[in-house]
Amino acid sequence: MADIVDQQTRSRMMAGIRGKNTKPELALRRALHARGFRFRLHSKNVCGRPDLVFPKYRAVVFVHGCFWHRHEGCRYTTTPSTRQEFWRAKFTANVARDASVRGKLLKDGWRVATVWECALRKPDQVNATTDLFSTWLRSNELQLQIGDEDSRTNLET
Ligand SMILES: [Zn+2]
Repeated sequence: MADIVDQQTRSRMMAGIRGKNTKPELALRRALHARGFRFRLHSKNVCGRPDLVFPKYRAVVFVHGCFWHRHEGCRYTTTPSTRQEFWRAKFTANVARDASVRGKLLKDGWRVATVWECALRKPDQVNATTDLFSTWLRSNELQLQIGDEDSRTNLET
């Protein structure tokens, strides 16, 4: 069978559903560290093993791949053209698990941020995302979601 999935999709698939230390994640970590924030990585003691945990702010961050975690309306949220049933089931399970983890964390008094990988692709995006995130971290808001607006396809159609 021909190679149906393109190179980009394939590398996202290879990176795995809960890819740790991915390039976008490392970029965010570096930017936050440079601004003086300190955090724990992939803490086993916190539900869902968030990518970053900020105990001082009672906040956690998940850096989510748009493909695996189904960033709604994002152009990177593609669906492979083969084995569609398989993918649909897998994606549905991923989204359900993310929602369940988020619910548990909020119930336990954590504040939860989701940063989509499309918001961390270029250096200027990393800066803008880090700004947004830092502001949220110091706020009292419970949830935050950051994605790249330019990567959004028209949801109306
Ligand atoms: Zn996205």
